[in-house]
Amino acid sequence: MRGVALRAVYPRRCPSCRGVTAPDALICPECGKAFKLIAPPYCCKCGRHVAEGTEYCDECASKAHSYSFGISVFEYDGRMKRSMSDFKFNGWRENADYYISETLRLHSDDITGFCPDILVPVPIHRSKRAYRGYNQAEILAEGIGNKLGIRVVNDLLLRRKKTRAQKQLGAESRGANLENAFICDTDRYEKEYIIGSFRRVMLVDDIYTTGSTMEGCTRALLDAGVCQVGILSIAAGGNI
Ligand SMILES: [Zn+2]
Ligand SMILES: [Zn+2]
Repeated sequence: MRGVALRAVYPRRCPSCRGVTAPDALICPECGKAFKLIAPPYCCKCGRHVAEGTEYCDECASKAHSYSFGISVFEYDGRMKRSMSDFKFNGWRENADYYISETLRLHSDDITGFCPDILVPVPIHRSKRAYRGYNQAEILAEGIGNKLGIRVVNDLLLRRKKTRAQKQLGAESRGANLENAFICDTDRYEKEYIIGSFRRVMLVDDIYTTGSTMEGCTRALLDAGVCQVGILSIAAGGNI
């Protein structure tokens, strides 16, 4: 009842055009058709679209990644970019409900097929989190984990430093900078490992572009003793 009353005061808004949606709808019908879903076949490593009969996208074929499996849901086009930017920077947390619902509709079997013991959101730096009030990857991981009955462990990974200087670096150094930006909290790992004895982890993030962030997180988890890492990105671009 409280939820109904709240909805009357704060109606849900479309994650694309920001108009008020119909009751119980997460998006307006036209905008639902306008977001581009990544079409199969998918790259085995990152989940981006590849040509028929191809196992990996160009980038995954030319660069070794330590994660072994990947899922991506939406094309990171202009429309998704705006929507994600509202979600991350403008406090539109409700946008996540639509992303999560489409992820589950299309990829529940892919996620559970990987058999992750836990989901781990990609961390943002503490100061960013304090400023923004939330980590968008945690919201996504929790929504997906709750629905699929997979435990979510926040704060297992830590962001070592701010990557503010990224702009001044070339593409290659930028990647290396990100790949070294994460560490696994070993005390937390040991505690969680005893409770859950997990071997497989699925990382969750909002956007996938070069894979450097996922690579950095994967290496930190593998160094701590995790056996296998898969990745789940809501939107993917950069190789299209
Ligand atoms: Zn709309
Ligand atoms: Zn790929």
